[in-house]
Amino acid sequence: MGRKLLLDKAHIENIRYYDVYRANGGYESAEKALKMTPELVLDEVKKSGLRGRGGAGFPTGMKWSFIAKPEGVPRYLVCNADESEPGTFKDRYLMEFLPHLLIEGLLISSYTLGANSCYIYIRGEYAWIPDILEEAIADAKKNGWLGKNIQGTGFDLEIYVQRGAGAYICGEETALIESLEGKRGNPRIKPPFPAIKGLWDCPTVVNNVETLAAIVPILRIGGEEYAKYGTGKSTGTKLISACGNINKPGVYEIEMNISVEEFIYSEEYCGGIANGKRLKACIPGGSSVPIVPANLLLKTAKGETRMMTYESLSDGGFATGTMMGSGGFIVLDEDQCIVKNTLTFARFYHHESCGQCSPCREGTGWMERVLKNIEKGKGKMSDIDLLWDIQRKIEGNTICPLGDAAAWPVAAAIRHFRDEFEWHVLNPEESQVRNFGLAHY
Ligand code: NAD
Ligand code: SF4
Repeated sequence: MGRKLLLDKAHIENIRYYDVYRANGGYESAEKALKMTPELVLDEVKKSGLRGRGGAGFPTGMKWSFIAKPEGVPRYLVCNADESEPGTFKDRYLMEFLPHLLIEGLLISSYTLGANSCYIYIRGEYAWIPDILEEAIADAKKNGWLGKNIQGTGFDLEIYVQRGAGAYICGEETALIESLEGKRGNPRIKPPFPAIKGLWDCPTVVNNVETLAAIVPILRIGGEEYAKYGTGKSTGTKLISACGNINKPGVYEIEMNISVEEFIYSEEYCGGIANGKRLKACIPGGSSVPIVPANLLLKTAKGETRMMTYESLSDGGFATGTMMGSGGFIVLDEDQCIVKNTLTFARFYHHESCGQCSPCREGTGWMERVLKNIEKGKGKMSDIDLLWDIQRKIEGNTICPLGDAAAWPVAAAIRHFRDEFEWHVLNPEESQVRNFGLAHY
């Protein structure tokens, strides 16, 4: 069994409630942190090598150390719980079953950053979870972990839960901040980064739910010990939400030192491909990361074992690699149509584009229309090159990463599965028959 740091107590009945969480070591990390100086807590986070678990993998300790500290200006911590990346549902699990783990992480993080107000911005579709969080916040407050003069330290903290309204773009940190301020969720141009000018123009750290929950085990075992989990620059454990054509979909905590093959085929995790089918491809980090065909998924282009780490998953760049992203691990079996899959994602990004920049606003709609034509057997060979051109014109030319996220899946699908696009063009009548089998790549 792999070692666990976040879900090690998830099996305990009623761990969602304060008394059970506390009786099982809950808030001991906070107790420890509150006796340290914020600088020492920050040192532990830096030593841990923790990287942001929302998708970008930015070093957390570094982000925290960037926060501006002008005299008399409040600082804010914002917990990004707007988990909307297709295939990603790991933060939902943490908030639903271990709300006090998150609250304890928020307390330690706010203390370290010198923030007295913290906001949890949660996606609108997680309609039942705010009540769970509000109850846990009330219980933590009743027990002296929130409010004024926490545990007699003189530190004050309030946590507020803000519901989103179901827009994917509000998961982008600056759009989230705009939305928290009561405005339309349009991303801002960066820099300035939120650490300098964020919520109400004040220094703000925005971190993902899992990142903030991981602060608790880091304080419990120490940053150095945490860094011994995993390998290389992928320290600690990572939650992976696995879905698609596998036997055991669900949320798994992995130590970042196992192979992709072990993750897909072992009984401890996905339990292999469903219905005795063969693996065709995988999108290992949520819909925004490039799709990888089976032959490049288990081994890198250099013939090395592909590992479940930031480095190994991206090995080879976009030509042969992909990204860890948010850990939304989508597995496709031999019966799945890559063109249809790509169209589904393109439709999503077109729908979710905020419309501020023309390459994204126009390009996502254009890609959707061309893909729809190809998928329906109404496409031309030149449409494949047209698609390639459109995605290239979007990538790197937009305000926020949604543009790239819309472009990469299209680019990777054409790069690795061009023959499936051609097949749709050449076989218009059969275009709705989507069993391509393994021979098609
Ligand atoms: P990013 O690389 O722009 O930034 C990462 C973080 O580091 C941000 O918080 C940013 O403010 C900070 N940062 C970077 N450089 C900085 C600097 N010089 N000074 C101060 N702070 C700095 O990426 P992003 O927009 O935060 O995230 C993109 C990723 O989000 C995508 O790769 C995708 O995988 C993921 N994503 C996840 C979900 C989800 O539901 N979990 C949804 C959509 C996208
Ligand atoms: Fe809006 Fe798309 Fe531009 Fe992002 S890239 S700001 S979603 S139009």
